[in-house]
Amino acid sequence: MKLARGFRWMGRGGLALAVALPAIGMAAENTPPAVGLAVRDITPELPIRLAGYGARNQSAQKVDHPLQAQALALKNPSGERFVLVALDNLEVSRAFMQPVLQKLAAQLHLGRGEVAVVSSHTHSAPVLDQTLTDMVQPQPEERERIESYSRLLQARLLELVEAALNDCQPAVFEYGQGRAGFAMNRRVYRGDNVVFGDNPDGPVDWDVPVLRIRGTNGAVRAILFGYACHGTSVRGGEDWYVVSGEYMAYARHHLEAHQPGAIAMYLTGMGADSDPAPRGRLLEAKRHGLELAGAVMGVLDRPMRPVRGAFRLAYDEIELPLPAPPSREQLDQDAQGSDVYVKMRAEAYLKRLAAGQSLPESVTLPLAVVRLGNDLTFVLMGGEVVVDYARQIKRRWAGDHPWPIGYAYEVPCYIPTARIIKEGGYEPDSSLIYYGFYGPLRTSIEAQILDRLEALMRRTRT
Ligand SMILES: [Zn+2]
Repeated sequence: MKLARGFRWMGRGGLALAVALPAIGMAAENTPPAVGLAVRDITPELPIRLAGYGARNQSAQKVDHPLQAQALALKNPSGERFVLVALDNLEVSRAFMQPVLQKLAAQLHLGRGEVAVVSSHTHSAPVLDQTLTDMVQPQPEERERIESYSRLLQARLLELVEAALNDCQPAVFEYGQGRAGFAMNRRVYRGDNVVFGDNPDGPVDWDVPVLRIRGTNGAVRAILFGYACHGTSVRGGEDWYVVSGEYMAYARHHLEAHQPGAIAMYLTGMGADSDPAPRGRLLEAKRHGLELAGAVMGVLDRPMRPVRGAFRLAYDEIELPLPAPPSREQLDQDAQGSDVYVKMRAEAYLKRLAAGQSLPESVTLPLAVVRLGNDLTFVLMGGEVVVDYARQIKRRWAGDHPWPIGYAYEVPCYIPTARIIKEGGYEPDSSLIYYGFYGPLRTSIEAQILDRLEALMRRTRT
């Protein structure tokens, strides 16, 4: 594609062709992508049920601050496009995203993997349709509100992606990294069990990656930053039923005040086994937001490393194998049980059997690598990805300057490593009840994921 274009353009050059061709090819490779930005308000009307905690039993009656969806479009001189969407929500499922992606393909010709929605994983945003909806067991009128908010959000996502693509202008990129220490490993070992709690000895990822994007006039247009931790500063009390983008949104507000005119965009890392510490009320979310914004400002105020060159995207989906489905007897027994979530999972499997459908034998997981020249590489994974993956990605591909991003594209379930699957606990085991699968995933998934990421990495290297 690139060569054909160069050739056509230089056809007039006659003798100069052989010499000019590689130079022109390199110029296109070295020109960074144009950048387009767009933001939409996605604050729900009240009352609305909030996602993330099964223990909540009523709708939110108050908004702390507006929710947002933001899009950043990259467009290479040779025409390739990629759009990152940062979403103030817990997560999106494949079923939720499907109509959006179909319309983007039909209307804007965006292909597989070219639009990545990264959910912030705030536990204080509306429940979405077909996305852990039954975890909060909504009443019929609550379900109607969830559905109408979902339709509105889907429409906003379409608008947003198109607006960002239409805004593309030449840009200059710089990268740096800071550190924030409030992510706490939440897997506590008690006898043979793993329970929720603060584990200061467990692995965490405290890096704060920062990408500053300027226009050619030098004005800062966007500040992308990330952190690997759950959006669960609020865990009960009077703030339990308040709409909020959590510490991630507070960090954005601080950064946008620090750099007027710029959009601050939070990209969730791989920290599904980390919770913020301490946790409690919105006051804790504000405190963590301040710490995170401070880490980003520290990076912005020091010299940053230039990021040059066009982007390259490699996208794929893999099937993570589940164990053999339970027997009919087991499903009947679970459907009679007292645990409402175990019951719902069994009923969903039985419904499939009754409809003559097969039972799930694997979980589909999207993976992507987006390389900016040779200076920065976004590594995106769907699912709630545990911190071990971030650490391995940073170790194995250090020379590619990786930026690990979780909750990307869609969230089918937690994505544990072999160690965590062997240990058990919420992430590899009991969380699957809410996600509607009989597990656990096999320990072989870790090697399967890393091998496929290696292949994607290779595809994006020049
Ligand atoms: Zn989570």
